[in-house]
Amino acid sequence: MKAIVIEKTEGGSKAALTQFDEANLMDGDVTVRVEYSTINYKDGLAISGKAPVVRRWPMIGGIDLSGTVENSSHPKWKAGDKVILNGFGLGETHLGAYAEKVRVKGDWLVRLPDGVSPRDAMAIGTAGYTAMLSVLALERHGIAPAQGPAIVTGAAGGVGSVAVALLSKLGYHVVASTGRTSEADYLKSLGAAEIIDRAELSGAAKPLARERWAAGVDSVGSTTLANVLSMTKYGGAIAACGLAQGMDLPTSVAPFILRGVSLLGVDSVMCRMEWREQAWQRLASDLDREKLKAITTEIPLDKVIETAPSILAGKVRGRIVVRVAD
Ligand code: NDP
Repeated sequence: MKAIVIEKTEGGSKAALTQFDEANLMDGDVTVRVEYSTINYKDGLAISGKAPVVRRWPMIGGIDLSGTVENSSHPKWKAGDKVILNGFGLGETHLGAYAEKVRVKGDWLVRLPDGVSPRDAMAIGTAGYTAMLSVLALERHGIAPAQGPAIVTGAAGGVGSVAVALLSKLGYHVVASTGRTSEADYLKSLGAAEIIDRAELSGAAKPLARERWAAGVDSVGSTTLANVLSMTKYGGAIAACGLAQGMDLPTSVAPFILRGVSLLGVDSVMCRMEWREQAWQRLASDLDREKLKAITTEIPLDKVIETAPSILAGKVRGRIVVRVAD
């Protein structure tokens, strides 16, 4: 079968579109014929070898897929079922989605919700599902639009674009922070009420600053998240899911102990099945398909390797869907 195989080399790693013998797929109780995948930030890192995402050699890249079950010995799945898989080590420790087939554990799969096509599912992908997990985390914390605006950082990226669309649909006044102010019209079309230049949030943070928002989805980390926290209203909460600016967090305890602000951690990779299913059901009902279309660009599998570096350069607007099946 066709696959993007990442091999270890002396100085790092190298990815190539090549033939891979299906007999060498890893253990699992379900074989899935992949229809679509996507390029997430993590896929960009894995393909370009810029961070140690891959932990098994050789690896097939791709952390996300939608497709059809070909055969299964798992009680929940039968041939013909339409499924989604996000994370669980796919493309990191388990042979991944940039291939015509995967063999995986049935316990990792989510049923494709009614009304969501396999292509839609990968237009959403891990980035969109993480945006939804972030919104769910805010809701579980009791945050609602009446409490004040919501900030989205890295707004023109994958997580950010979906977060803007979801939060505006839920009734939030969305403040979109971006380094690409030329994308203001795009962000407004997704539902942003205000656009701010990310430079406003990228310097060293004061312990506390003027209260500006009650909620937030942060895909950037570092000084940006520190500033976002220092500007969060009393009792507000920020869901932290990314590190596009950096993994550090140079903040103080002031927002937490003087304003009762909460920082909610969001992980999509090992997230429990109940929250995954809830996130996909909510994406099916709350994400406007026209907005999803506006966010998405499609490429074939043979363009993945040349496209991957652009996501690391912060040049990808919204989401990239990868067509795997011919
Ligand atoms: P994208 O590259 O699509 O989006 C990231 C955005 O961050 C960019 O578009 C840019 O937005 C902004 N950005 C980039 N560099 C900087 C910088 N130096 N300073 C400030 N802002 C910057 O990636 P994704 O949306 O796919 O992923 C975003 C982050 O979320 C990544 O770090 C990824 O690893 C993480 N992630 C985490 C998950 C989890 O399970 N917790 C799951 C999925 C993603 P703009 O141009 O608008 O400024």
